[in-house]
Amino acid sequence: MKTGLMPIADALANMLAVTSAINSTEEVSLFDASKRILANDLISPVNVPPVDNSAMDGYAFNSMSDLSKPLILMGKVLAGATYDRDLQVDECVRITTGAPIPNGADVVEMQENTEAISNQVSFLQSVRKGQNIRQAGEDISQDSTVIASGTELSPAHLSLIASIGISKVIVTRKIRVALIATGDELVEPDGILQPGQIYESNRYALHALLSENNIDIIHFGIIKDDPKRIKQALKAASEQADLVITCGGVSVGDADYIKQVLDEIGQINFWKVAIKPGKPFAFGTIGKAIFCGLPGNPVSSYVTFETLVLPVLNRLSGQKRKTPMLLKATASENFYKRPGRTDFQRSICFLDDSGNLMAKPNGKQGSGLMTSVANANCYVVLEQQQSNVPKGSQVQVQLF
Ligand code: AMP
Ligand code: MG
Repeated sequence: MKTGLMPIADALANMLAVTSAINSTEEVSLFDASKRILANDLISPVNVPPVDNSAMDGYAFNSMSDLSKPLILMGKVLAGATYDRDLQVDECVRITTGAPIPNGADVVEMQENTEAISNQVSFLQSVRKGQNIRQAGEDISQDSTVIASGTELSPAHLSLIASIGISKVIVTRKIRVALIATGDELVEPDGILQPGQIYESNRYALHALLSENNIDIIHFGIIKDDPKRIKQALKAASEQADLVITCGGVSVGDADYIKQVLDEIGQINFWKVAIKPGKPFAFGTIGKAIFCGLPGNPVSSYVTFETLVLPVLNRLSGQKRKTPMLLKATASENFYKRPGRTDFQRSICFLDDSGNLMAKPNGKQGSGLMTSVANANCYVVLEQQQSNVPKGSQVQVQLF
């Protein structure tokens, strides 16, 4: 193993030890709560469903009734209504799905198994007590914890919350992230390139990745490789944001000033993380803000954001740690790798004719080749000490 490279797990442990959840919250409507992070355990004030009710269109009656002769039809109860009298043995009522079970009834028989002639209903099969009845509290019982704090609210969660009669939730406030690109060579994509210049592109992927996570983004544009300007931008950013993200300028090149500036205005840990792509990575604090310095190569900034920065963002928002789900697949082509860094190879996975999950590298893996990410559908994650993986071997797939 090469020395001096920090395993990803150690880098994450270091970062998460320094990062604590912001404890400011806000109340939002359920319509605005998608993907927000629940700030408190949510306890149900009610049972869902609130009362025993019918799972079928049919007839409700008491299971002690004598089904060798027809039961007397006493009336009907539709969803949204109630049956006000007590039902006696050998009586039945017409009932629709969702309607409350009348007092005295303990069974619902579906319409298809009955024959009704005027006010007499014959039952063609024997029944089991409780059949076709949805119990009060079967989905959610009153006073139970429905969703734990720190949960990212999914569409299903929002429906669940509405089902217990709650229309607003307390969530952690949105995390504010300042985004800064550094580099003398960088030009906005609507600008004109002079010799030696390239279009700035990293922020567009980072902006989208941040947006997906409900982050408030504060853009600081492109900053020149000039320690004074970098210092100014970082200071301003740290006063407005919970997390400051830069890309570029974290290597050991002549124009890499991030470390120097951070040493002056904050605290910095500068690591060579055992990750490919993306070796140089800086982490620290400026005042109250957390700082992550991503490498400038487009694929490196993308992969290090997903692998190293997202967990920090999750921690800031009080979210439970999410670890990416890894699936097992068979390599349909060789994967080339040298031991030393965990490799996130941009790959394509697919099902073969027998339905087996297969994966192959998505072409060249250079850290500047954004097409390798854009046309891929997964990473094949090759462990730090792994060397070449021959076709036919098992690999781990992390779906996009
Ligand atoms: P650096 O990390 O600053 O040494 O940059 C590494 C490589 O990534 C260089 O080829 C830069 O031109 C390129 N690069 C840096 N920042 C960006 C950016 N924001 N968008 C596109 N390419 C970048
Ligand atoms: Mg640079």
